[in-house]
Amino acid sequence: MKLQYLGTAAAEGAPALFCDCDFCQFARKARGREIRTRSGALLDGTIKIDFGPDSYKHELDNGLNYAKIHSVLITHTHVDHLDLDELAFRRPVYAHLPENDPPMTLYGNEKLGEKLAGVRSDWIAFRRVKPFETIDVEGYAVTPLEAVHCLSRDGALWPVVFEGKTVYRSEEALFYLIGKDGKNVLYAHDTDEFTPADMEFLAGRGLDLVSLDCTNGRLDVTYIGHMGATEDRRMREALLQNGAADAHTVFVANHFSHNGLLPYDELQALLPGFTVSYDGMTVEV
Ligand SMILES: [Zn+2]
Ligand SMILES: [Zn+2]
Ligand SMILES: [Zn+2]
Repeated sequence: MKLQYLGTAAAEGAPALFCDCDFCQFARKARGREIRTRSGALLDGTIKIDFGPDSYKHELDNGLNYAKIHSVLITHTHVDHLDLDELAFRRPVYAHLPENDPPMTLYGNEKLGEKLAGVRSDWIAFRRVKPFETIDVEGYAVTPLEAVHCLSRDGALWPVVFEGKTVYRSEEALFYLIGKDGKNVLYAHDTDEFTPADMEFLAGRGLDLVSLDCTNGRLDVTYIGHMGATEDRRMREALLQNGAADAHTVFVANHFSHNGLLPYDELQALLPGFTVSYDGMTVEV
């Protein structure tokens, strides 16, 4: 399987949209791998993961043609992962597609379904997916897992267990395990360290590629919902220990905020055992 990293930043991009911090000043000069667009990936040229505001740039920069894409896995509805206004351009008049071309199906949680209510039609379809329920997507076995993300301050919805406590989420945020022909890719953005249920589900699988959220980069922070280099190193150990990963597993750190970023090589030095992602990077397993 071939995973193409199209966008590798968190919500505000890196350099961030309106930011003049030291890192953003550096990135604007250095360019190259220091420029990161909002999150998104493509598996085997077939399955798109998330559809954020930089998706159009990704299509141009990578020579892609989204007219050929019919399956999009949405992790959650934060703005860097879902841009409904852009998706609306799949409507006839804006897009000319073959007659009887199937709709583009967006797979995701209940909140995605609500947001797509006014958009769904012959050209965009929705399929609700749930944690630990495997479905077939164009010949791939896709299993959503529960993400520790979108934490809610109001209302006891969508509980998950994190560090021995139950925490609640404003939507059922997901990340995805995707398998085909004996190969398995885990694309785990955005999430904090995995829940016990996730760890149990993944135990012993010997995954080929594990891509972990590294929003906080060099920073150790206390809020719940993302990881940084410290948590990524800890997660790698935990996944190796329970057999979810083994010596052959490729680990990637991805989805970076400018707040915790360092120049690419310095970040890579903080993450032994990982490949640090960059926009346009391809990993084949
Ligand atoms: Zn994000
Ligand atoms: Zn900045
Ligand atoms: Zn998010």
